[in-house]
Amino acid sequence: MISPDDWRLQGQDWLREELLRFKSYLPPKPGFEHDHCEFCWLPFRSEPHAGVANEGYVTGDKRWICETCYEDFKLLFDWVLEI
Ligand SMILES: [Zn+2]
Repeated sequence: MISPDDWRLQGQDWLREELLRFKSYLPPKPGFEHDHCEFCWLPFRSEPHAGVANEGYVTGDKRWICETCYEDFKLLFDWVLEI
């Protein structure tokens, strides 16, 4: 169970009950790779690197959540996974 004091929780209420899809990371435009996990700030990149994520959960408005944070917070945020 995740504590409400978890450092990653910064009042992300806008992510509550979001519809998420699991996807490979794609930059919003070519050469612009600057997304982070909404919770732990892990960087997302399309190329494999140490310490970055290449895939994760994304909302319709392109907010990314890493796999670890998805697993940790999915019950708290009531996310719906679109298949
Ligand atoms: Zn994360």
